[in-house]
Amino acid sequence: MKATDVTTDLTRASAAELAEALASKTISSVEVTQAHLDRIVAVDEQVHAFLHVNAEGALATARAIDERRAAGESLPTLAGVPIAVKDVMATKGLPTTCGSRILDGWIPPYDATVVRHLKDAGMPILGKTNMDEFAMGSSTEHSAYGPSRNPWDLERIPGGSGGGSSAVVASFQAPLATGTDTGGSIRQPAAVTGTVGTKPTYGGVSRYGLVALASSLDQAGPCARTVLDAALLHVVMGGHDPLDSTSIDAPVPPVVEAARRADVKGMRIGVVKELGGEGYQPGVRARFEESVALLVEQGAEVVEVSCPNFDYALAAYYLILPSEASSNLAKFDAMRYGLRVLPEGVDAPTAEQVMAVTRDAGFGDEVKRRIILGTYALSSGYYDAYYGSAQKVRTLIAQDFERAYEQVDVLVSPTAPTTAFRLGDKLDDPMAMYLNDIATIPANLAGVPGMSIPSGLAEEDGLPTGIQVLAPATKDERLYTVGAALEQALLERWGAPILSKAPELAGSVVAGARAAVKGA
Ligand code: GLN
Repeated sequence: MKATDVTTDLTRASAAELAEALASKTISSVEVTQAHLDRIVAVDEQVHAFLHVNAEGALATARAIDERRAAGESLPTLAGVPIAVKDVMATKGLPTTCGSRILDGWIPPYDATVVRHLKDAGMPILGKTNMDEFAMGSSTEHSAYGPSRNPWDLERIPGGSGGGSSAVVASFQAPLATGTDTGGSIRQPAAVTGTVGTKPTYGGVSRYGLVALASSLDQAGPCARTVLDAALLHVVMGGHDPLDSTSIDAPVPPVVEAARRADVKGMRIGVVKELGGEGYQPGVRARFEESVALLVEQGAEVVEVSCPNFDYALAAYYLILPSEASSNLAKFDAMRYGLRVLPEGVDAPTAEQVMAVTRDAGFGDEVKRRIILGTYALSSGYYDAYYGSAQKVRTLIAQDFERAYEQVDVLVSPTAPTTAFRLGDKLDDPMAMYLNDIATIPANLAGVPGMSIPSGLAEEDGLPTGIQVLAPATKDERLYTVGAALEQALLERWGAPILSKAPELAGSVVAGARAAVKGA
């Protein structure tokens, strides 16, 4: 889309295009923000991507930015570009539920560092996006507030846990959104909705103010429709934070420059042998192979690389994650936040009784499953056998990455083994749900960065597929170089952005027409 089209439908423009049009005062932030709020009204009843819409707050920020711009102030690149925030991030004065009943009604008294960065950048916050409860899941079906739907097919899942964020971006309700990725929750939703998502290097984005799932794996990152937009948001979100002890004390890698460079000539790319083949849908595999061929055409060298310990990543993850989660979730004790349920028929209940009934009522099945698993794995008699062994496997996986990166600059694989599945299909089978992250989990265990880029539509169902790019720790810029090169090649291959092939959602015409009038 050319900058001249920006005014005809503000919701279709990329964040980079909006930023440019805002900077040149072709459009105002109030217009852009209002257009997205209109779009939310028009389509979110069907998509259910937002848990909370912050219309007044977003417009107030937009107005303030417009005034500052009119006064001649020089503003950050994304000033005035609206954004949606995953409900795992504490937002001062706005509800933060993390998809759980137990945090129903909690209004944080402070902002997560990431949210503070968005505010400092002058970005209007449109609202909070739906997610699996405490970020446990791959479909948003574990949200206590009902699932989000995939804009490509409303009967299908938008991925998880950050399915709300991927769905808002894919359905043009926001140009950008934030996500968190503990085992794939930014990348897998991006893959199944035809959008772009990055999990930065562990420590690249502050964890302060994120509701913790597994602290050694959690990492926040950008959700967008283009690689450049993801890079622009990555820069805003990232950077050193003294409030997070694992935050990297170094500048954000040069991701925007890399996205603009988009040149893979001479780059060495490794196809991970263990992340492919059987178990991956044929259409996903075909698109992946096609993307790899496009990279070769552009001058990249491709070799196959073996990472034998990746076969144990899922098993190690499902011991480490529940162990850390069981400890992190102990703070939801009915005393400090949100929900408190009193036991029936007890006159003077003890704190322990209140805690037990509140946790029973406030946590969903998947959360309980993982707390039980985690406390078991950490119990004194089993610690070495389970948690200790899983940590050793984690080291072996990190060593596989190190060896691989001696031979290649980046690794690639399909992001998710299948396209979006139908709501309900995997809900009763935890193992089937867990397998969605088979390709994304190794990066979290090793702390290395990863990105998912749309790789086209699967032949058998016409749904989006994603290719995952992985880079060594702190070399996040490589993801953007490869991602942008692929994006360009795929644009030529498909004749238009993949997302433009998604069916129109009913109501979008009305919102589009209104935006056009406002923009004229
Ligand atoms: N789906 C994975 C899980 O359920 C990943 C979650 C995440 O990245 N937050 O743990």
